[in-house]
This record gives sequence, C-alpha cells and structure tokens, in this order.
Amino acid sequence: MVQSAKTVPPIWCPGCGDFGTLAAVKKAAQNLKIPTHELVLVGGIGCSGSIHNFLEINGLHALHGRLLAQAVGVKLANPALTVIAAGGDGDGYAIGMGHFMHAFKKNASILYLVMNNETYGLTKGQPSPTSQLGFEGNVEPPFDSILTALSIPASNFIARTFSGDPKTMTAVLQEALQFNRENRGYAFVEDLSPCVTYNDTYKLWREKIVDVATLPGYDATDRKAMFKLCLETMESGRIPVGVMHRPAATSKEGLELRLLPDLTGPTSTSIDLTANLPAYQKLLAGVA
Ligand code: SF4
Repeated sequence: MVQSAKTVPPIWCPGCGDFGTLAAVKKAAQNLKIPTHELVLVGGIGCSGSIHNFLEINGLHALHGRLLAQAVGVKLANPALTVIAAGGDGDGYAIGMGHFMHAFKKNASILYLVMNNETYGLTKGQPSPTSQLGFEGNVEPPFDSILTALSIPASNFIARTFSGDPKTMTAVLQEALQFNRENRGYAFVEDLSPCVTYNDTYKLWREKIVDVATLPGYDATDRKAMFKLCLETMESGRIPVGVMHRPAATSKEGLELRLLPDLTGPTSTSIDLTANLPAYQKLLAGVA
C-alpha cells in the first residue's frame, strides 16, 4: 500500500490546497490497503497534475485535457488496477470538457479527482472556467461541475470536498475508490483546493461551504432532488460540499463489465502484441 510520499518534495507553493489533497489521497489508499503496484494515477497538466510525482505509485502525465481517455485506457487494459485521474479545473473543464461530459455515461470504474482553484495557477493566475465574475477581468459566469454531473443520467458516484478539511475528504475518497474497486462505475470528486498565490479562497470558502447532508431534503440516491438542492444552495450564496450522488448499493455498472469477458484484462496473461491484437481491436470497436 502507499506507505509514504516519495522523497521528491512537492513543488507546490507553501500552503497550496493541493497538499491537503495529496494527504487525503494517500490516507484513503492506506485505509483501503491498496497495494502500491495496483494503484495508478494519471495526472493532468497544471500544478495539481504533478501529484503523482509525490506518491509511491505508478503514474504518468497525460496530454493536456486528455487524462480521462488515458485513465480509462489503463483501466480497460488491466481492470484489476485501481485508477485515479487527477488534474485541475483548467485542464478538466476547458480543453478537457469533451472527455469530462462523456466520462459519466461511459462509466468506467475510475476516480476523476479535480482540484478546483478557480484559476490557471501554473501559468500565473488567468481566469479559468470556474473563475468568479470579475476575477482578473473575467466576464463569464463560473462553470459548475456538480450541477453538470448531476444532469447526466448515469449511475456514478459524485461528490465535492474541500482541501481545508482533509479528514472529510479522506472519507469521501475512500468511498469513491471502494465504489471503483467493486466495479460499480465512475466516481467524480471535485476538491476545492485554493491557489494561495493567485487566488487565495481559503477564508471565503470556509465561510461559504455547507455539507449538503445537513440540509433538509438531502437524499444522495435521488439525482433530481440533489440537482435542485445544490442549485438552491448555490443561489443562496453557499457552496454545497459532500456526497451529491450515491447509487443504490446493488448497482454495478462499470464499463469494464460490459466490454471485457473477464476482469483479468487482455494484457494480463501476455504482453505479446500479436497475441493480444484481436482483444484490443474488439475493445476499441466497443468504445469508438
Ligand atoms: Fe498551488 Fe497556486 Fe502555487 Fe500552483 S501557483 S502550486 S495552484 S498555490
């Protein structure tokens, strides 16, 4: 399991919210006792995408906005792996938006963790799709990932967390990863992770976040009701956090169950390309 962070020190600015995310990912994997060699993290482009460099697990940096395609590929090549895709709001909600939308209905059993800081931190603080009106001259209202996620009819795990509360975040990530490991489908978790250098939202977010589970009418199995609850919460000036959608315990709808004859995967018995070609062609035909 993930015993420790690598000796490579994180390159993030002191106080960056991504430190809280890193701690929560590590703790969730430890609590689930996931062997290091069974855990893969596909990182996006941006400050947050370097998270895999600081964990003793397998990982790669994906092309900008393409981490979901690569993470789904990893899962289908070897469904025995626990696969995390992790990146920022700029990576996922701008150039990556096409993959973002389709991932919910494809429903591969991977976790997509978006560290949302409402800015492009790596390139020095330009407005991103989630930036508030007026931030650095931004004239567009912010994109909301949770409302979008809830609007797509599929059997996914959907949640939002806050880096300033790593204990709750650990519990949510643990539930999301367990959901994946039982082949129940796609898990999407947006972590509010402040960029202390270009958009320090720690104080504001602490004041505004509210755990949806404490609100009247909360029912995480009812997607429609949760959309309404989250929208009304946002319209009242608060930011909903917590588990927004939790499919019924009997649902088991991972893409890998629909595409693969068994969960050992086409590459598990041999790495010979010729031998595996028919299996890959069948796989690609299924997701085209
Ligand atoms: Fe974190 Fe912002 Fe620094 Fe990037 S620029 S490491 S997001 S605080």
